[in-house]
Amino acid sequence: MSNREIPYKIYLEEQEMPEKWYNVRADMKKKPAPLLNPGTLKPMTYEDLRPVFCDELIRQELDDTTPYIDIPQEIRDFYKMYRPSPLVRAYCLEKKLDTPARIYYKFEGNNTSGSHKLNSAIAQAFYAKKQGLKGVTTETGAGQWGTALSMACSYFDLDCRVYMVKVSYEQKPFRREVMRTYGASVTPSPSETTEVGKKILAAHPGTTGSLGCAISEAVEVATHTQGYRYVLGSVLNQVLLHQSVIGLETKTAMDKYGIQPDIIIGCAGGGSNLGGLISPFMGEKLKGAADYRFIAVEPASCPSLTRGKYAYDFCDTGMVCPLAKMYTLGSGFIPSANHAGGLRYHGMSSVLSELYDQGLMEARSVGQTAVFEAAEQFARVEGILPAPESSHAIRVAIDEALRCKETGEEKTILFGLTGTGYFDMVAYEKFHNGEMTDYIPDDADLKAGFDGIPKFPGNLI
Ligand SMILES: *Cc1c(COP(=O)(O)O)cnc(C)c1O
Repeated sequence: MSNREIPYKIYLEEQEMPEKWYNVRADMKKKPAPLLNPGTLKPMTYEDLRPVFCDELIRQELDDTTPYIDIPQEIRDFYKMYRPSPLVRAYCLEKKLDTPARIYYKFEGNNTSGSHKLNSAIAQAFYAKKQGLKGVTTETGAGQWGTALSMACSYFDLDCRVYMVKVSYEQKPFRREVMRTYGASVTPSPSETTEVGKKILAAHPGTTGSLGCAISEAVEVATHTQGYRYVLGSVLNQVLLHQSVIGLETKTAMDKYGIQPDIIIGCAGGGSNLGGLISPFMGEKLKGAADYRFIAVEPASCPSLTRGKYAYDFCDTGMVCPLAKMYTLGSGFIPSANHAGGLRYHGMSSVLSELYDQGLMEARSVGQTAVFEAAEQFARVEGILPAPESSHAIRVAIDEALRCKETGEEKTILFGLTGTGYFDMVAYEKFHNGEMTDYIPDDADLKAGFDGIPKFPGNLI
């Protein structure tokens, strides 16, 4: 099919939306390592996880063998309010770059949370409600996950308690108010409302917090409050599973027009959007049915994949969560201020970590100023004001398209545009005023983080 016949936007019909999520773990020969109980160093069982997570979500978390899992009708009905999301051919960007490459992006910013996070929030809220819970607790960094979960909880009439990284709580009052509009309570973290929060505050007075701290607080509240469970917006297997809706829709849309991507790019914080986008394509690669290049893009200030260690580590700063085997900078690593708040996590999904370790996926880290240059270039021709997180993927998509210009190759590039940046205008302002910093941790900074990784036989020793 010639280029001309491909529309700017490929929309799917409602009935073309997936009825099942795809679980890429089922097709991995070597599975991601299981979560470990930090006390016994034995794999976490369903029973071990029950005080923390909702029952059905634990089943999904531990299921490494079922390739397709039904999306309940209630969740599909909610998805219909903002999905299918468009797959856009970036004709205008291609023209501006004067590249022979064909660029596509899957846009997940068409909902109030401004990101892909609603895809998993609604699933997690549904299972919490189905179990008869009163409410859920969670952390949020930049605020997109907290917003998505607030929306999902208000829809199912669940209480929602959000621990928000203090620096974001103060810098992004509007995000906070969106969450409160949906009925959530929002507490700046670390706080005096939990034991772990008090401990962190005593050890680091004046800290502006981190995702790792906020997770510890939210878990403590969930496990100490009757009828509550903790939910997480990224990193976990279940979240990647829910986010596979992104990749499945993309694949259906591309197949309709006979488009085969050569390179698939996504930003990686905890790995959920990237994992969701690449899942069906990775499944084909794992089965030898097709080949693709996958590139994870992370901030140079928080380089889990490109400079981290592949080891068992705590998912949170307070060390109350299970151990996960992943590329990590150490649970005590607090990344320098970076405007891509959603990418400031010390670890990475175990699924993506394992795929990366097996050489099935590449990773690249990019500096903040270069990311905002790409964001602005994209905004000026494609009309969408991208989130700083998403702009990491834009940066590498542009770099790859420019490489095609040099070599004359007509590659097809697909990237995930995870969200919009309306709440990130302070970051854009800094960029415009030339006040943006490009802090990159040195080896000594990283060593301090690595020193905190738990040492036991088989782990880093
Ligand atoms: C949270 C977020 C990310 C990063 O999270 P992942 O789990 O790695 O996908 C990326 N983009 C946006 C807009 C986000 O809100």
